[in-house]
Amino acid sequence: MSETTEFRTTTRHMLKRSKQYASQTLMGGLSGFESPIGLDRRDRIEALRTGDIGFVHSWDINTSVDGPGTRMTVFMSGCPLRCQYCQNPDTWKMRDGQPVYLEAMIRKVERYADLFKATGGGITFSGGESMMQPAFVSRVFRAAKEMGVHTCLDTSGFLNRNYTDEMIEDIDLCLIDVKSGDEETYRKVTGGLLAPTIEFGQRLARAGKKIWVRFVLVPGLTDSEENVENVARICDTFGEAIEHIDVLGFHQLGRPKWHELRIPYPLEDAKGPSAKLKTRVKEQFESHGFVVY
Ligand code: SF4
Repeated sequence: MSETTEFRTTTRHMLKRSKQYASQTLMGGLSGFESPIGLDRRDRIEALRTGDIGFVHSWDINTSVDGPGTRMTVFMSGCPLRCQYCQNPDTWKMRDGQPVYLEAMIRKVERYADLFKATGGGITFSGGESMMQPAFVSRVFRAAKEMGVHTCLDTSGFLNRNYTDEMIEDIDLCLIDVKSGDEETYRKVTGGLLAPTIEFGQRLARAGKKIWVRFVLVPGLTDSEENVENVARICDTFGEAIEHIDVLGFHQLGRPKWHELRIPYPLEDAKGPSAKLKTRVKEQFESHGFVVY
């Protein structure tokens, strides 16, 4: 495989302002992983099913971006949603990722285990959609827990049923995107269904897991009082599991990737939210008793 497939410098899921992210990122791409290039298609499919390999877009070491402390964030390739504001449409197709052996990923976690423990950090699986490859992700998490390393799953929750209750046991924290509060708006924003996200959040809560909710605020798309109220009501059903809600203002840092990939970009002329709008939305969530950032 190539030494460095891609050095990740752009933001994901609207969270990371590029300057902040670049300054916090120590390394990236897929350097240091052996890739099972020799496997034929049938063997690869079987290895994917069992989690012996995973298709990875990139990885990096960052601080306070994808969970607490210093973290190794692994961006899995493949996503079933098509969010209008996606920052990384280059992660949509699983086949565009690099196959990585499970053992290689576990060795990487082992290498940084002391750093994670010293900083209260750990490993985060993100994407793309991390739940598209549940066997790989959950086996790495199992190994991480055996090493005493904190685990975090960053997901839309859309593939709720891909993740068994047993797999949920090895998640310490879930960053879950509640992209809208009703089915119609959710479908407009993502092309998918909202119900699985709600169910996944409730399963996490029942299992005693911690949740950080992320909501991307796009003027004219997700910002209506009704939509925000509905998102807050969904968060209510996650109860005490929620530590805080991140209200992430839309920005245009992802636009060049849509252009590069020649995918029609639906938010070509969209603007980020005003300070006034952000305040209104934060106050809506706060009125439900949530800590909001
Ligand atoms: S869920 Fe998929 S389409 Fe939506 S923002 Fe994340 S990677 Fe992009």
